[in-house]
Amino acid sequence: MNAIIRTEPLAALRQGLHTSVSQVKAFQTCGKRYEIQYVRGVPPSHRPIALSFGSAVHAALETFYERLRDTGEKPPVEELQAAFADRMDVEMADASIPIRFDDGQDAGTVKGQGIAMLANYHQKGFVPDRVIAVEQPFAVDLADPETGQVLDIPLIGAIDLVAEHQGRVVLVEHKTAARRFDAIRLRHDIQPSSYLFAAKSLQLAGATTAFNLLLKGKGTPTEYIPLSRTRADEIEALETITAVLRAIESQIFFRTRGWACGDCGFKRACGG
Ligand code: SF4
Repeated sequence: MNAIIRTEPLAALRQGLHTSVSQVKAFQTCGKRYEIQYVRGVPPSHRPIALSFGSAVHAALETFYERLRDTGEKPPVEELQAAFADRMDVEMADASIPIRFDDGQDAGTVKGQGIAMLANYHQKGFVPDRVIAVEQPFAVDLADPETGQVLDIPLIGAIDLVAEHQGRVVLVEHKTAARRFDAIRLRHDIQPSSYLFAAKSLQLAGATTAFNLLLKGKGTPTEYIPLSRTRADEIEALETITAVLRAIESQIFFRTRGWACGDCGFKRACGG
């Protein structure tokens, strides 16, 4: 199987006006928060530790799969753990926005959790038949599924891992989470669906998708979860993204009071 992919850096693709799956999800979570963060550019009061932890685990997995891609061998576990610890140190050293820890946690316990998680991952984590690309950037035009009109804002992002496994190209997203994803999320999360149509711009038509889930907590289990997606799911994701872009264009930013308020870094700007 000869998969061909483009190599423009993500930073170059992000130069112009664009959207991303994470921005669309941010709007879905709370339009008011989206407005405060992305339209008004207000800095958050804090960053949840989960964001820094997730970034550091991603850095370690990047090291893992780059070595597999380049040599066919896993790097030593100490290299994964060092990549994680280095990124955590960078996150902790950023004094511009304070990090908020969960109850009972501090920098030491979080680092220990990551080190244990990566030791387990080194033994049991997903090893594909072949790594094609790591952190693969993409930029794809968005067409309104109803009218066919191509929007002037492209979708830009990076796929964590493009691999060949059991005879198919698979687009893998690494996730760290406190608990398993529910069936609705596995079936309808727009990220894998939108990556499937983005894959066509990378000449990866026919690819499939998967989540690579690293769970926090006892035993730090890791799960490779193949996902089921159809053309209808790609269209649904396009409908969602275009609807969100239209709402933003029309400045429809309403508050969604709910679970996200608990750790929201924009409470003051929102009005408490
Ligand atoms: S506090 Fe709640 S409603 Fe206000 S911006 Fe944050 S998430 Fe939205």
